[in-house]
Amino acid sequence: MSEASRIDIRGVSKLYGPVKAVNNVDLVIEGGSYCCMIGPSGCGKTTLLRMIAGHEEPSSGVISIGGQDVTHARTGNRGTALMFQNYALFPHLSLTDNVAFSLRVKGEASDSRRAKAREMLERVQLGHLADRLPSELSGGQQQRVALARALITNPKVLLLDEPLSALDEFLRLRMRVELKRLQNELGITFIHVTHTQPEAIALADQVVVMDHGLIEQAASPREIYNHPHSPYVARFMGGQNVISGRVESTSGEAAVVLGADGHRHALNGISGQKPGAEVKFSVRRDRIQVVDQPAAMNGLTGKVINTEYQGTFVKLALDTGTREEFIIYLPDEAWFARPIEVGQTVHAAWDMAATHYLRGSNNSAGM
Ligand code: ATP
Repeated sequence: MSEASRIDIRGVSKLYGPVKAVNNVDLVIEGGSYCCMIGPSGCGKTTLLRMIAGHEEPSSGVISIGGQDVTHARTGNRGTALMFQNYALFPHLSLTDNVAFSLRVKGEASDSRRAKAREMLERVQLGHLADRLPSELSGGQQQRVALARALITNPKVLLLDEPLSALDEFLRLRMRVELKRLQNELGITFIHVTHTQPEAIALADQVVVMDHGLIEQAASPREIYNHPHSPYVARFMGGQNVISGRVESTSGEAAVVLGADGHRHALNGISGQKPGAEVKFSVRRDRIQVVDQPAAMNGLTGKVINTEYQGTFVKLALDTGTREEFIIYLPDEAWFARPIEVGQTVHAAWDMAATHYLRGSNNSAGM
């Protein structure tokens, strides 16, 4: 991890009139890491990115890069480069000249800047198209040019705002691999704003989940997925059911919870909660079995309201009489061996290891 490209964000807020776009955020992004910021539209992720880039000034708080306070530093003086969503290429300039443009503005000699631009185009695998105009490229290729143009300034930190959103699914998956490869090769910090969960999980060393200007959780993809901090994170990242209930009894860290669905659940990792307390926990959708008899503990019964074939698994949605559907990901061979139809009543069961007690109290996401 490189100290020079470590980012420290301390107590940063951004107010637009009465709107708190970013609300007193603390965050450390390790140097040389890949960070993905994710959250629903309007949660403040672009505003936070733009404050790191210097395109917006924080209303309060401090942003440091490599130990240097850059809160009020000019865009060009903080070692960051921002790649825009609409690639913003100059239509009348060749790829080489597009990529070399910022070096030309800085007064670098023509030979030297063109050599650097060509090297950068090689890096993004467009060396063979260096003399073309942007209009002669595909969307994916234009995006690589935009990437090369951002990287030619040798930034410590590359900021990417929804970089893959304009691409079709096939290109998006290819560019995902490319971005990760580039970040590994260059060893600089990448901060990538997205609203696509699989993208964040696949790319990031650290996923930052935001909601209403706040950071709900910042952790590795595995930690976020297996140990979501709150019901909001569990629902937003997907792959989990959230069950509400009331603690019946406790024994050390273990507890028995009576779910709102009328079933009993044994949970671990609950501390500081007394009998009677309202709690929420998650159950991994891919760790649930369909069984013949109702489970005495860690299970529930519901009516199938939808089935969806997803290739490697079948997604079953159950109505359990509560507000939320209960989702099961059943391996496709299990489903084909014993197909389950809409309208059927099924018993679900899972191991305690598939559950996770949700500490955070924010329950704002109605997903
Ligand atoms: P999206 O995914 O839709 O781009 P986001 O999470 O990036 O959303 P931001 O663009 O950071 O969200 O916006 C956060 C909040 O701040 C929103 O309520 C938005 O309307 C508001 N906001 C952003 N920029 C401005 C501005 N220049 N003036 C006034 N309000 C703004």
